[in-house]
Amino acid sequence: MRLILLGPPGAGKGTQAARLVQQYGIVQLSTGDMLRAAVAAGTPVGLKAKDIMASGGLVPDEVVIGIISDRIEQPDAANGFILDGFPRTVPQAEALDQLLKDKKLALDAVVELRVNEGALLARVETRVAEMRERGEEPRADDNAEALAKRLSAYRAQTEPLVEYYSEKRKLLTVDGMMTIDEVTREIGRILEALGEANDKKAAKSSAAKRAVKKTAKKLAKGAKAAAAGKASTKSPAKKASAKKAVSGKSSSKAGSAKTAGKKVASGLKKPAKAPKKTGKKSAKVAPKAAAKAAKKGAKTKSKSAGKAPKRGAKAAKKAAKTVAKKAKKVTKKRA
Ligand code: AMP
Repeated sequence: MRLILLGPPGAGKGTQAARLVQQYGIVQLSTGDMLRAAVAAGTPVGLKAKDIMASGGLVPDEVVIGIISDRIEQPDAANGFILDGFPRTVPQAEALDQLLKDKKLALDAVVELRVNEGALLARVETRVAEMRERGEEPRADDNAEALAKRLSAYRAQTEPLVEYYSEKRKLLTVDGMMTIDEVTREIGRILEALGEANDKKAAKSSAAKRAVKKTAKKLAKGAKAAAAGKASTKSPAKKASAKKAVSGKSSSKAGSAKTAGKKVASGLKKPAKAPKKTGKKSAKVAPKAAAKAAKKGAKTKSKSAGKAPKRGAKAAKKAAKTVAKKAKKVTKKRA
């Protein structure tokens, strides 16, 4: 399971991420925690981030992208992860897409915790009080001034990600104003539903793949039979083209039919805009596309191959005429 938790400061991302870690046995990757650790350790990244963080601004994209890229590589993230506080900008989201693509990993969902901004200051104040009670030093950015800046950064740079992931059909929105337990239950419920939907999609996708394979096999079999002369209705030219298609040495259209089928089948893996409909349609289209491509191939081949016998007949006629002429001359001479 690979998730992103999206929401303004104080929405409860950290709290819910900790619970998801327990539930799914995956790791929580919080860029805020990592940066705070870097600040505390006085690393070069920490030194760069310290003042920006304290004022409530955003650390440069390349810094956090570098941190996440390294962290995802760690063995404990192999089982899955929850990104908490990352991505926070569209360039970060694009970089994450590329990272996951390179590693051949898929993102399961983006859970947005939607909250009323008016409630956030009170929540942050509660967090400060709780930390003090535990004898911990409150965060440098958990004050009214920094919170106002963090909120305006969220609105300007992070909120566009709602649209970004909504367009990718990855966004799941949860009412973050419910109690902590209710929010946890709601997240659990939608993730379960998502898992079921993904299972169904996977089953559909493999059924479509099987259908494509079957059609491609049938086509190849038909072409082979034609090449072997078993298809008596086919002209010699068509037989030749069918043979070529089977051998795969030429730009075989039977081959491209197979490829077309494969492409459609692999397309089913991608998150569809309307998962049900698209899946069904693609599943139907796949064998049709394969058949069409093969038919086109047979036509093209038979057209070009069909010219040869015509030309041959013409040449034979011409040769016969010349022989007849010569025979006439010889007869005349003899006479
Ligand atoms: P958080 O703990 O997620 O509230 O993050 C605390 C602070 O760390 C933020 O206000 C930023 O200054 C910085 N930070 C954390 N994650 C990011 C990120 N993905 N991009 C930029 N800055 C970040």
